Amino acid sequence: MKTVLLIDDDKSFREALSHWLIDNGWRVLQAEDGELGLQLAMEHQPDVVLCDLLMPRCNGFQVCRSLRAQKERLPKIKIFVTTGSAYSTDRLNALESGADDYLVKPIRPNDLVALLDLAVGSGSGKVSVKADPSNVSTAPTRLKFWGVRGSIPTPGPDTVFYGGNTSCVEVRADREIIVFDAGSGIRPLGVALNEEFKDTPVNVTLLISHTHWDHIQGFPFFSPAYNPKNQIKILGFEGARKGLENILSSQMESSYFPVSMGEMPGNISIQELKDSSFNIGQVGVQAVFLNHPGICTGYRIFTSEGSICYMTDFELFQRMRSGKAERISDEEERFARLQDERLALFAEGADVLIMDAQYDAAEYNTHIGWGHNCVDDSVAFAIDAKVKRLFLFHHDPDHNDEKISRLVASARGQVAAKGSDLIVEAAREGLEIILDAKPAILPGKG
Ligand SMILES: [Zn+2]
Ligand SMILES: [Zn+2]
Repeated sequence: MKTVLLIDDDKSFREALSHWLIDNGWRVLQAEDGELGLQLAMEHQPDVVLCDLLMPRCNGFQVCRSLRAQKERLPKIKIFVTTGSAYSTDRLNALESGADDYLVKPIRPNDLVALLDLAVGSGSGKVSVKADPSNVSTAPTRLKFWGVRGSIPTPGPDTVFYGGNTSCVEVRADREIIVFDAGSGIRPLGVALNEEFKDTPVNVTLLISHTHWDHIQGFPFFSPAYNPKNQIKILGFEGARKGLENILSSQMESSYFPVSMGEMPGNISIQELKDSSFNIGQVGVQAVFLNHPGICTGYRIFTSEGSICYMTDFELFQRMRSGKAERISDEEERFARLQDERLALFAEGADVLIMDAQYDAAEYNTHIGWGHNCVDDSVAFAIDAKVKRLFLFHHDPDHNDEKISRLVASARGQVAAKGSDLIVEAAREGLEIILDAKPAILPGKG
């Protein structure tokens, strides 16, 4: 009997597909993450692997590479990537990683069964494991924006109010210093930490959303990483093409930078995340993969004073799918809607949502598939997710202060028209907020 291994963290997808495959004479194995998938592949040597891309514990690109590295044990294995990502760079990376084909969800079961029969020549057997959610705890929670710009730093007279540094957000909660991303905004954060802590050691946990340059470029200039008394822990998921450590250290190779990462005197540890739920001290963290080229992660942290969701570099599925094609099928529309609903559920009820809102509606139409939202979509998403406060983030480098202010005004108009009580602001450098039952704004740099 032919065996197929389904590696996908979406249980409903695995279950639906396995019924079809079993009815069509296949023996089906299931794994909900990449590591378990690899383990089952080695144990059972299936004829075909169907593998998702965005999964905890080893992403699909890495699964493809690892399976292809086992030429002797798995000489004839067929690998089909089955993913929600319609980005052409992901297709290319998957094929380069060793996939035989790249199938974008939703996938019609009949088409897939036919494709598998064609690829090889058909049962049951199941394995599954579970993950579980988070944790909460105590102390005032503060959030400060150090970099709010997307793509490239944009200093200058037109961006003085909102700021020109790329992504970096600091959170102080439950005795932890947690930093989202290391764009150029992490440089002034480092200066401020040195001034505040002086000779006292600093422990910082840096959560990397993804390794596009605007999210890591500031790290070589993060001065606390040059002091041996400090502990800098960098957490993130592996990239599509290379591991996290490899990518971070590559930008400090001698062709690009005079000091290598290994030469930085601070105690720097880099940990590739495996699970979508973990803790930083008493702060619970959940991670979710976003719709963006490559591997991009959204985080939600649960502090004793409320929760903060950081979802940047993110394009809503429905908008992208319906914008790219003249017409999309009902199945595709349903698939995209479910993906967006899943992400809205992730953010549901957050006290603060920091969200990609790079474009206005007209600009979005000429940037469909670039991996970023327009303001209208981010506002609609936040209203659906019932978050309390939305910060528009990852401002386009071509947007000056005036443009961003106009976008905020139009976003507030949209909220009023919907009768929602969502608070909308544009993230700006220096803005600091405190989370409590009634969030208050502290005076920022302005
Ligand atoms: Zn970015
Ligand atoms: Zn990006």
